[in-house]
Amino acid sequence: MVPDSANRYDTIVVGGGLVGAAVAFGMARRGRRVGVFDGGDRDFRASRGNFGLVWVQGKGADYAPYARLSGAAASCWSDFAAQLLSDTGIDVGLEQNGGYDFCLEQAEWDARASEMSRVAAHTDGEFEYEMLGNAELRQRIPEVSDEVLGASYSPLDGHVNPLYLLRALHQRLLDLGAAYHGAEPVVSSAAEAGRFVVTSARGRYRCERLVFCAGLANQRLAADLGMHIPLQPLRGQLLITERVPRFLPCATLQVRQTMEGTLQIGDSHEDVGYDESTTLEVITRLAARAVRIFPHLRHVRLQRAWGALRVMTPDGNPVYQQSRAHAGAYAISCHSGVTLAAMHAGPVAAWLCGEPGHPLIGEFPADRFDVSAA
Ligand SMILES: Cc1cc2nc3c(=O)[nH]c(=O)nc-3n(C[C@H](O)[C@H](O)[C@H](O)COP(=O)(O)OP(=O)(O)OC[C@H]3O[C@@H](n4cnc5c(N)ncnc54)[C@H](O)[C@@H]3O)c2cc1C
Repeated sequence: MVPDSANRYDTIVVGGGLVGAAVAFGMARRGRRVGVFDGGDRDFRASRGNFGLVWVQGKGADYAPYARLSGAAASCWSDFAAQLLSDTGIDVGLEQNGGYDFCLEQAEWDARASEMSRVAAHTDGEFEYEMLGNAELRQRIPEVSDEVLGASYSPLDGHVNPLYLLRALHQRLLDLGAAYHGAEPVVSSAAEAGRFVVTSARGRYRCERLVFCAGLANQRLAADLGMHIPLQPLRGQLLITERVPRFLPCATLQVRQTMEGTLQIGDSHEDVGYDESTTLEVITRLAARAVRIFPHLRHVRLQRAWGALRVMTPDGNPVYQQSRAHAGAYAISCHSGVTLAAMHAGPVAAWLCGEPGHPLIGEFPADRFDVSAA
């Protein structure tokens, strides 16, 4: 056991996934002495199993602040990636020259068109998009099948390598003097004399600010400091193929080509509880849909598949909450940790440091799920 007198940080961030690493980096950059406590490989870790899209299409169709937040986050991405490259030498592989979401059935097309127009309305037209029929689409991507009805397109969308992103954030926060306590999960935390005491698997630590970014574990951990963050898992399965000659000019929601040339195919939305396994039925469905869109992939070999759990709030929008009972304790939960990474490292980290942050942050309290308060 580490003696607790030795363990003081300005800020403790619980969770070292994409959300925790981004805010810890942002706070360390603002001069905070940050300790990041992370779990182990047996935890649910969406940051290591996601699709890697920087995606605005459809986000916030039913909640204007989320549409605006996603747009603002995506707009920061190219500067963010350039900064990470210059600071760490890690190229996160950002390709942000638009993205397509294919429609194979009329019902999909109708729903997409409605969703896109709502996002545009919520952003006063700032969100630009096109609905493209098959002929226009094939002028841009000739490999698309004539079976595809069309696609939505937005110029702000893109993709990165999410593992390189996680690595770059970790490297940067260490360079800035933050401490990383890997495989040292937090067991509990409490408020004591205007500070927080965090008990981990190895010791007790004190801090002035405490930020819960532990993915699905936030629900349990943040409750110690009076925050009610209802979360549920939503499984996605993803496939990786062998490398193929480059043919995709940009990201799509169904298939993206990595900088190494493999194709990542995904992703499903399955309400199956805390089960990360893969199933032949879903793998077959995802592969078949990819081949319906791009028939030339018929003979490409799959290399592997995995499942991962999304961190979902009841309405699908993020949570940025400061504890009402214990000021200085915060919880952040979201299901778009790649897209929002630049926002988390920038304005959200500023807000966590007590600076004004971004006006939209206040639009995402967890209190909205508190029926008794409502
Ligand atoms: C299939 C799939 C596809 C996705 N695609 C995209 C996409 O294309 N674009 C996009 O923007 N987002 C996407 N996402 C969402 C994105 O991956 C998540 O929003 C993001 O990874 C959440 O990061 P997080 O840090 O909150 O959670 P996690 O990645 O789950 O990290 C939580 C961390 O907390 C740690 N932890 C747990 N318990 C404790 C404890 N007691 N003490 C200390 N640490 C603890 C864990 O070990 C883990 O490292 C996708 C997710 C999935 C599952």
